[in-house]
Amino acid sequence: MSRVNDLLELAGRAKGFMPRDEGLALYRHALTLGEQVPKGTWLEVGAWCGKSALYLGAAAEATKSLLYSLDHHHGSEENQEGWEHFDPTLVDPADGRLNTLPTWQRTIASAQLEASVVGLVGDSSIIASHFAQPLNLLFIDGGHALDVARADFAAWAPKVVREGLLLIHDVFPDPRDGGSAPYEIYQAALDSRQFHDVASEGSLRVLRRGP
Ligand code: SAH
Ligand code: MG
Repeated sequence: MSRVNDLLELAGRAKGFMPRDEGLALYRHALTLGEQVPKGTWLEVGAWCGKSALYLGAAAEATKSLLYSLDHHHGSEENQEGWEHFDPTLVDPADGRLNTLPTWQRTIASAQLEASVVGLVGDSSIIASHFAQPLNLLFIDGGHALDVARADFAAWAPKVVREGLLLIHDVFPDPRDGGSAPYEIYQAALDSRQFHDVASEGSLRVLRRGP
């Protein structure tokens, strides 16, 4: 099996909420972009346990790009105890808080992707305010509370270069399917006229910067 097939296979088995067809679409769009613009700077907001980082990382490695995988690693509102996506095995017994960083590190290390995927551990808005590099690719899959998703879009989308890609996950036109915040920022991206639709797969939307 090829290196890419191995990585996509690992990604399919990794812990997380990225359906396979959407993960493969993430990989394909990132790969196409990376083939056009190699050695790009890519960033995902929302790392969790590294599943989407494997799909994007496979494309990053193949195109000599670098993926920053950002998370404070304490989970979103919807991951906390009592909520729908709570996983007790991810609680750190030392302080009772969720901590996905050890799992994320193991995921990236076992895939041998450490040269292509680098973790940024901290709050999205704080890191964004000190992050000056233009982005060839931005994947927004962080917190789905409205203020959090809006802050991610406001802080990171302006850093995407012309012809760069903006990917947004969990875009459900009907809020009952998974919250309305990603849909709202997707609409805001289109309304800004800075981005236009390129493709979609399930709840994944792919937009490109430029008229
Ligand atoms: N992209 C991942 C899933 C991410 S889940 C995958 O497909 O595998 C959403 C993540 O966003 C959670 O891990 C949570 O900790 C993170 N998150 C939520 N709000 C954040 C914030 N303000 N700063 C940094 N990370 C945040
Ligand atoms: Mg998601």
